[in-house]
Amino acid sequence: MSKPTVREEVLIKIASNGKIPIDPNPERPTEHFGSNTFNDKVMREHLPKDVYKKLRDTISKGEKLDIGIANTVAHAMKEWAINKGVSHYTHWFQPQTGLTAEKHDSFLEYDDQNVIERFKGSQLVQGEPDASSFPSGGARTTFEARGYTMWDPSSPAFIVDGPKGGILCIPSLFISYTGEALDKKTPLLRSMDALSRSATKVLRLFGNQKVKRVVTTIGTEQEYFLIDKAFYYLRPDLQLTGRTLLGAPSPKGQQLDDHYFGSIKERVLAFMQDAEHELYKLGVPATTRHNEVAPHQFEIAPIFAEANVGADRNQIIMEVLKKIANRHGLALLLHEKPFAGINGSGKHNNWSISDSEGNNLLDPGDTPEQNLQFLVFLIAILQAVYKYGGLLRMSIASAGNDHRLGANEAPPAIISVFLGERLSTILNDIKKGKRTKKAEDYIIDLGIDKIPAILRDNTDRNRTSPFAFTGQKFEFRAVGSSASVSLPNTILSAAVADSIDQILNEIDDEIAKGLPRDDSVLKVLQKYVKETEPIRFEGNNYSKEWEKEAARRGLPNVRKTAYALDFFKSPENIEMLKRQGVYSEIEIENRYNTKLEQYITALEIEKQTLCDLVQTRVIPAALEFQNQLIQVINGLKSLDEVVGEEAFKEQAALLKTVTDLMHQLRQNCADLESAVHKGEAFTDLSQKAKFFSDHITVALDQVRQPADALEQILPDNLWPLPKYSEMLFIM
Ligand code: ADP
Ligand code: MG
Repeated sequence: MSKPTVREEVLIKIASNGKIPIDPNPERPTEHFGSNTFNDKVMREHLPKDVYKKLRDTISKGEKLDIGIANTVAHAMKEWAINKGVSHYTHWFQPQTGLTAEKHDSFLEYDDQNVIERFKGSQLVQGEPDASSFPSGGARTTFEARGYTMWDPSSPAFIVDGPKGGILCIPSLFISYTGEALDKKTPLLRSMDALSRSATKVLRLFGNQKVKRVVTTIGTEQEYFLIDKAFYYLRPDLQLTGRTLLGAPSPKGQQLDDHYFGSIKERVLAFMQDAEHELYKLGVPATTRHNEVAPHQFEIAPIFAEANVGADRNQIIMEVLKKIANRHGLALLLHEKPFAGINGSGKHNNWSISDSEGNNLLDPGDTPEQNLQFLVFLIAILQAVYKYGGLLRMSIASAGNDHRLGANEAPPAIISVFLGERLSTILNDIKKGKRTKKAEDYIIDLGIDKIPAILRDNTDRNRTSPFAFTGQKFEFRAVGSSASVSLPNTILSAAVADSIDQILNEIDDEIAKGLPRDDSVLKVLQKYVKETEPIRFEGNNYSKEWEKEAARRGLPNVRKTAYALDFFKSPENIEMLKRQGVYSEIEIENRYNTKLEQYITALEIEKQTLCDLVQTRVIPAALEFQNQLIQVINGLKSLDEVVGEEAFKEQAALLKTVTDLMHQLRQNCADLESAVHKGEAFTDLSQKAKFFSDHITVALDQVRQPADALEQILPDNLWPLPKYSEMLFIM
């Protein structure tokens, strides 16, 4: 008997994985929830009363920390951490890689001759990592190499357990020496401030003097794939690029719709429960888990939080899922399209605003005043998406997400808003200047004649909309699964803040002319309802008709990242972002360049990985088959007296097919190489990215075709890579 192939060995190994240990007495989540976070309760216990109060004040007002109390806070934090086995701390921040960064320092210090553990306020508040090796889109040439990290006290510090002691992670901002934001978090915080400023003015307009600020809240539904780690190790494309660059379709894919919300396999459940346990310790309230549409695809969603905390938590979720998957012998795939022909993964970014008293401002509310206020926010959001839809499109652009947007599984690259029938009716009535009729049970009667009735319960849903009102919140659904949610939320909040300002200015003008407040509000809203009508779409966003209709309405439909990034550079968009104090021009320039570089680099890595795979795995396997066929043909020829002269013909035809495919494969690889070579000649980054987008993505697909055809012809035992039918169904 021949010895098993590497693939067969893997299958045998997975089959013997079998037993999953059962914990007969699991802890209740509330018993360990937040146990690894320096949360409010811990602060109250560990800090002197006055220091605690000052810190709380800083956090709730979103202000900077008084350096006077930093030493006390740092000491308390260190003591708390040491008691939990922590030896090192790190400023934990979010550079433009989209990942998080950490550099560990121990608490050790010399005190005379003795080594002691100390953590100073200055160390807590500020760090100085070398900024020069983070992507900065050219900032290095403009700024000094050094940058510094600054504690963001609004997001709680937390402990990540290590194999031998934990690490105290201090959520931080990352800024250059000249004050430019180098990270994704700083602009997010600025956009939250901008929105708070504008939205608070709306509350004041309606007589609310009590509320101090308005907070942006987000809740992210994270999709991901899991495959057995052994398969992953045999797929360099998954390891290096996050997606399979080759792979023939499995006879069974997602045709039966039998995975979505299906019962969760025990091995996956064990992983999910362990991951949730870890997340609970870190204070991340993961509440929802389920099987997603594609085989081996899943989702996890937490309770929402303030946007900066929510963004941190989403990064923590991605990291914890990866770590725990690894412990379970699984590989976690966060790429937007790991498998061709199978649904990819996204991230539904639920977004809302609430006041400092905790009232959701996208909840229509009970009084006429609240309803009119709700309409101001709603219509400002419509205006934001209408006017800055291009920027929003830009904010979700990546090489990975290009495979998904508009591929009949995810919202298209056209950004439109779904409101549902009831809100649509109200807006249509405002447009016509008539009061919405009291219709059945679902409207709240407002008493005041001029103000439209608003509906409470929004039950209809549209799964295809990129930006849908889902009752008390909007769901931005086109975000990629691997992306940091900071950028989309930064853009969204900035755009809404700007639209609120614009609307409020016009309302103020009307009031100044002597029109009563409510009439002024309705008059201006009516104008914006008309203006923003093109952005509203209630139908099927996946349909071809919508593409045509959107084009008629003049909505941009930019399918590819290299082109979508142009929106970052349009003068109106730059002006708005500057006006809202979210980015400086140089910060935009740097981010734009970084995104272009990341896009190009992603494709360069894909090209090299694919060429290597073809050269070192696919071609050798095909050669082996060629060789086998040649031997058979020669054998048959030498036996022609026994089997007849024609006996080798079928084998010869097969040999020809294989030989032709090999030839095509080599040719297409050479074409890919020369296309990349041509692309490398561009000095302008944007032109280069566009060339890559137009040519390299196509050339990559062309290499794939003969390779996938070979996979379907070669003997199974010669095929060197795990197949779709294995990765997506065996666990
Ligand atoms: P749905 O049925 O609309 O998906 P869920 O209540 O299941 O609604 O929420 C989905 C996600 O939306 C969750 O992550 C949740 O935390 C988040 N979410 C709910 N309310 C808000 C809000 N006010 N702001 C931001 N996110 C929210
Ligand atoms: Mg949802």
